[in-house]
Amino acid sequence: GLKVHFPIKRGLVFDRTVGHVRAVDGVDLQVRRGQTFGLVGESGCGKSTLGRAILRLEEPTDGQVRFDGEDLRDLGPEPLRKMRRRMQMVFQDPLSSLDPRASVESLLTEPLTVHGLAEADRQEFGRDSARSHAAKASSMLDVVGLPGSALAKYPHEFSGGQRQRIGIARAMILNPDLVIADEPVSALDVSVQAQVINLLEGLQDLLGLTYLVIAHDLAVVRHISDVIGVMYLGTIVEQADSDDLYAEPLHPYTIALMSAIPIPDPDVEDRRERILLRGDLPSPANPPSGCRFHTRCPYRQPTRCDTEVPALRAVEGTEGRLVACHWAEDIRSGAVHVADPTL
Ligand code: SF4
Ligand code: MG
Repeated sequence: GLKVHFPIKRGLVFDRTVGHVRAVDGVDLQVRRGQTFGLVGESGCGKSTLGRAILRLEEPTDGQVRFDGEDLRDLGPEPLRKMRRRMQMVFQDPLSSLDPRASVESLLTEPLTVHGLAEADRQEFGRDSARSHAAKASSMLDVVGLPGSALAKYPHEFSGGQRQRIGIARAMILNPDLVIADEPVSALDVSVQAQVINLLEGLQDLLGLTYLVIAHDLAVVRHISDVIGVMYLGTIVEQADSDDLYAEPLHPYTIALMSAIPIPDPDVEDRRERILLRGDLPSPANPPSGCRFHTRCPYRQPTRCDTEVPALRAVEGTEGRLVACHWAEDIRSGAVHVADPTL
């Protein structure tokens, strides 16, 4: 039931006539320990805000965020700080998230200091805590595939892919349980994307991590995700095991996103309908009535789609596939189909 609404301000004053941007508008999802949840949707659908709200970098308007059974909204500042250590974020653009004036060594050891590990280490290592931090930083570099000589260098001395490795090392140095990666490869060349995704996968096994990976591109999260959630205008419209989703997308929005991905195997005949999404994403300040996707949906059925909000529910005849569409069963059976695929 998580919601994050932002008041729209004119100058410094809340503007009642415009109201709120409903960036996240009643999301339910569950990320299981040791798994990767891929969260996919167009830019502006609220996925980054959702990621930030889970870490409480953004204050939720309503709803709960439970981590290990505890509602993060109930925690006071000190327990929250402790809890935060267990949840880290990897950002899209390593250049803008890393301080350009800080050496790699200070970038990597800063989280240890911020989280008060200096004191704990002093007790453990005596006066050598600075050295132990440097040693940790250097072993983290090794883990992400960078040489120890990188410690003395600065972010601009690295390529985009290497900088993302530094960002990942910085997130992992606190030995977190949950890592939220917001578009971790979308600023990188395609040739480097796979390397960084592979690195994240390797680290998951090595460090026992749980991931929430946010992407605008279904192709990026395909191989790394166990479960995928597809987000549209602040809500989850479909959630399924990754293999099931790619084998048979059920929500019209997912079907449209999927029809944009080419089938990589030249021997497999591509018989899918091409569906072009018409128009832009509607404004999250004023989402369409009924099904939020109805203004762009090629399967739209008059009246019901425009007036009745579809709940995210299990689709009959499937093993627990969750879809927010009134006609999921009928679209699946072919009883409801696209009148004009380029509509
Ligand atoms: Fe399309 Fe209607 Fe289903 Fe919404 S409820 S996705 S408008 S068919
Ligand atoms: Mg974003």
